[in-house]
Amino acid sequence: MTSSAASPPRPFVVGIIGGGQLARMLYEVSIGLGVEVHLLAEGPDVSAAGVVHEVTVGDYTDPATVRAFAADCDVVTFDHEHVPGDLLRELEAAGVVVRPGSAALRHAQDKAVMRERLNAKGVACPAYRVVADVAALVAFGDEQGWPVIAKTSRGGYDGHGVWKVASAADAAEPFTDLAPGVQIVAEEFVDFQRELSAIVARSPSGQAVAYPVSESVQRDGVCVETVTPAPGLDPEQAVAAELLALTIAHELEVVGLLAVELMQRRDGSVVVNELAMRPHNTGHWTLGGAHTSQFDNHLRAVLDLPLGDPAARAPWTVMANVLGGTVEDLPSALLHCYARDRRLRVQLYGKSVRPGRKVGHVTAYGDDLATTLKRARHAAAYLMGDADA
Ligand code: ADP
Repeated sequence: MTSSAASPPRPFVVGIIGGGQLARMLYEVSIGLGVEVHLLAEGPDVSAAGVVHEVTVGDYTDPATVRAFAADCDVVTFDHEHVPGDLLRELEAAGVVVRPGSAALRHAQDKAVMRERLNAKGVACPAYRVVADVAALVAFGDEQGWPVIAKTSRGGYDGHGVWKVASAADAAEPFTDLAPGVQIVAEEFVDFQRELSAIVARSPSGQAVAYPVSESVQRDGVCVETVTPAPGLDPEQAVAAELLALTIAHELEVVGLLAVELMQRRDGSVVVNELAMRPHNTGHWTLGGAHTSQFDNHLRAVLDLPLGDPAARAPWTVMANVLGGTVEDLPSALLHCYARDRRLRVQLYGKSVRPGRKVGHVTAYGDDLATTLKRARHAAAYLMGDADA
C-alpha cells in the first residue's frame, strides 16, 4: 500500500491574523478554494472566530504567539495591518511565507513611510510634513494655512488618530498620549468634493487586476456607503486611478489586495489619502457585485492562483454599511429585507450590536443609479432601525 493511500495529503493552510469581518469573509471564499484556514483571533467572540474551525486566541503583537501560529501555516495573511513589522521580518527570515510581505506592508502601517515613498515616486499627495512637536505643527499650519490635518503615523483606523486642527490653539491635542514610536504627520487640509477608492489585486507572479473605481462616503471617519462605478468620473480619470493603483502595487511589490484611498479636489484632480493592503470596506460591493470578489482575489493572490475577473455584474452597485442601531436580531430582520427586495444581498458579520459598530453591509445592484441607491439605503436603514417598512 502506498503511503498516500494510508494518509491523505495535508491540506494547504492559510493563516489569517486578525479575526474581524474581513477574515470572516475571506473564510467564506476559502471553503470553495479547498484550503484550510487557521485564525489568530484577538478574542473568542470576534467575528471570524465564530465560523473558522481552527482558532488560536492570542495577542498578535506577542512574538511567541505569532511564531507558534505561523509554524502550522503554509502562508500567512491578514485581516488588519497592526502586526509589528519587526515580528513579520523575523518570520520571513525564518522562512515563513508572509503575504503581503513586510516590505510592502510598511507603507500601509506607517503613514509617514507611505507619504515619503509616494512623494519620491511623484504620486500626487497632499502637502505633508512629519512634525516632531506642537511648534512644528503650528509652523506647518502657518505656512499652509489653517485648518490642517494631523494624523498618527501608525495605529489609526476609521478616523481614530486623525484630527482636523483649526488653529494653533488646537495644535497640542494630537501629541497627547502618543504611543512610543508613533509620529505625527501634518497634512494640508484637502477640501475634497468626494472620496474615491481604487482597488487592485496582485499575485506573487506579478499578475494584477483592477476593480472599477468606487466613490465612498464617510461619516465621522467611518465608511457608510460606496457607489460603483464612481458617478460622473471622467473615464480617463477612472483609468488613470486604476493605473495608479496598479503601479503602486507593482512598485511596492504588494501581494494580495491593495486599496488606494483617494480624495478628489474641487478642481477634479485626485490625491492619495492612504493605502490599505487587505480587503477593504470600499470593496465589499464586490461580494455579489463583481464577477470575482475582493476576498476571492485576495486569497487567489496569496495562493498565487490566476486572478479572477474584477468587472462589475451590473451598471451600478451600491454598498451600504449596517452600523449598530436599535435592531438587535439582525438575522430575523432579513425576513423583511429579502421579502421586499429579492436582488438584495445582505452580509452579516455575526457581531453583537453596539451603537455605530460595523455589524454588516448590504449590496444592491441594478441598471438605474437612483433606484439602486434607494434600495441599498432602505435596507441598511431598516437593519439599523431607522426605517419601519
Ligand atoms: P484612517 O486610517 O483612520 O482611515 P485616514 O487617513 O483615511 O485615516 O483619514 C480618515 C478620513 O479623514 C479620510 O477618509 C478623510 O475623510 C479625512 N482626511 C484624511 N486626510 C485628509 C486631508 N489631508 N484633508 C482632508 N481630509 C482628510
